[in-house]
Amino acid sequence: MRPVLKPALSRAWRDSETLQFGTVHRDARVVEQAGPAFCSFLGLLDGGRERPELLDAGERLGLGRETTGELLDSLEKAGLLDDEAATREALARYPQPHRDLLGPDLASLSLVHPEPGAAPAVLSARAAARVEVRGAGRVGTAVAAVLAAGGVGAVTVVDGGRVTPGDCSPAGLPPTEVGRLRATAARTAVQRATGRGPAAPQRRAPAGAHAAPPSLVVLAPRDGSGAFAGGAVGARRLMRAGVPHLYVGVLEHLGVVGPLVLPGASACGGCLALTRSDEDAAWPRLLAQLADDGPGRPRTPACDSALATAVAGLAALHVQLYLDGTRPPSMDGWCEVSAVDGLARRLRLTGHPDCGCLWQPAALR
Ligand SMILES: [Zn+2]
Repeated sequence: MRPVLKPALSRAWRDSETLQFGTVHRDARVVEQAGPAFCSFLGLLDGGRERPELLDAGERLGLGRETTGELLDSLEKAGLLDDEAATREALARYPQPHRDLLGPDLASLSLVHPEPGAAPAVLSARAAARVEVRGAGRVGTAVAAVLAAGGVGAVTVVDGGRVTPGDCSPAGLPPTEVGRLRATAARTAVQRATGRGPAAPQRRAPAGAHAAPPSLVVLAPRDGSGAFAGGAVGARRLMRAGVPHLYVGVLEHLGVVGPLVLPGASACGGCLALTRSDEDAAWPRLLAQLADDGPGRPRTPACDSALATAVAGLAALHVQLYLDGTRPPSMDGWCEVSAVDGLARRLRLTGHPDCGCLWQPAALR
């Protein structure tokens, strides 16, 4: 390990000998009696030295070998140190210019996962993850681009047809893509997010190359009612295959993120659909009339650009949390963001008794 003082942390003096690391009060760390020798020693924590070299250096600065060791331990315990060797190894998984673009993302991870080497390990796991986004509308393409930018190693977008003006958004497909194949335009957006040029023609993957299921599927139908309703057709197959998936979309003035479904372990889209039917018995009949090209569909579906961007960002954040090993609030629940008041709310979703997705064989109870 090559200890480095986390580049994400600010350093400011509270008074002449009290040094504060970090700005957000709740998480800030304070070092008292920070004298000149201590400050000189901090300057050596740049990731260029291993612990034995640092102990020698501390001795030369007059701190004493034992005190230097205790100092390193307490800085580590306070979450102020990272491992430069692990950081370099994680970033080496990405080609330039993506590697440089990831600096602030890794800096953020180092605050969320405080142990030395933990943030690089989380980033490495993201690099190995594969996420499939279904739907290249205002929300779907933005989710895909943000996930790719954040370091998810493989992000694919699945959709048919050609880009319409209604699919475009500042975080997803630019208006210059109108008329292009949605799948190609979305791939270009994903590549642009990682600093690469326009999409090269897609190489046909060798048979079986993607035989392994994706780490997670984002269900972001261009028609937001598909996400709002829950039990989408494709979701049943994902349930059977045990593939985690997240619903996201905008319907009228409401943006929805969730549920994020771990098949068999958290409430699913079917549970959501049944819950909506409990609240409104006519809901399934209404929904059937909204299906593709139904007569009742709005001529111009509402989708506020800011709302779509907020929802896409929230969805990408929840996917990252899940991939990083944290339980996002869209599990056993969903989040709604409203264009009426700008508020975000979290609603609880419990497994519906008629769904059966959380039933377990008696032997496993
Ligand atoms: Zn269910």
